[in-house]
Amino acid sequence: MKSKSVLIVEDNDLNRRFFENLVGQIWSYESALNGKEAIEKAGQKNYDLILMDIQMPEIDGIHALKKIRSQGKNLCPIIAVTAFADENDRSAFLQEGFDDFITKPIRPKEFLEKIKRALEDKAIDKDTNTNKLIIKEVIFDKSVFEQLSKYNKPETIRKIYEDFLEETLSLLKDCYETIKEGNPSEVIKQVHIIKGNAGTLGINLVYLAAAKTEDFGRNGDFEKMKESLDQLQKEIESFEQYFKEEIIFKP
Ligand code: MN
Repeated sequence: MKSKSVLIVEDNDLNRRFFENLVGQIWSYESALNGKEAIEKAGQKNYDLILMDIQMPEIDGIHALKKIRSQGKNLCPIIAVTAFADENDRSAFLQEGFDDFITKPIRPKEFLEKIKRALEDKAIDKDTNTNKLIIKEVIFDKSVFEQLSKYNKPETIRKIYEDFLEETLSLLKDCYETIKEGNPSEVIKQVHIIKGNAGTLGINLVYLAAAKTEDFGRNGDFEKMKESLDQLQKEIESFEQYFKEEIIFKP
């Protein structure tokens, strides 16, 4: 029986489905698409654990946490799920009141172990997972596929990657259109989503190119950002080709 209930708070659709898929293998869960929804849900029900994304529009994870704690209802552990780029001040998350943190891109095994530990109310080892995940310069990290295979049927995994490609191609198209419209700062948002998805799925060269593009954008270097976007497009096309040819993705 799935006796423990987890609230998943995540605004990125692919990541949320990914978390639901993993958590749902073992526990029951509900989801919130943003901080506001999380506060509402946590005000109505006691969960055993809350997974809280940090970067969300309007009410971010830190504000949602404070609000939930001030409502005084949910005393369960709240784990921050933070993007790779937010890592510079991890201790800040603990100081803000989170019980633990998981860094994105997440890896299924580590992710589930951390949740399990928190649910079992074991002492949280705050020193674990403090090393930055090394993103190898490979087109695809097959260990992600292997880990996913433990929890999913091959068709399900194939579908996740198909959806990724479909969404990514559409986001990329949006990027080029917003640049044409003279709004390069909008590109950062789209590229941020591509980065998050690619990181989660182990599509490393796309992840690295997206991270670079996002960094140029955030630093206001829009010329370099455009060049980097072309590189990102190439990496996406390469992965598309790889997906078509690679044996592990064959139906
Ligand atoms: Mn987010």
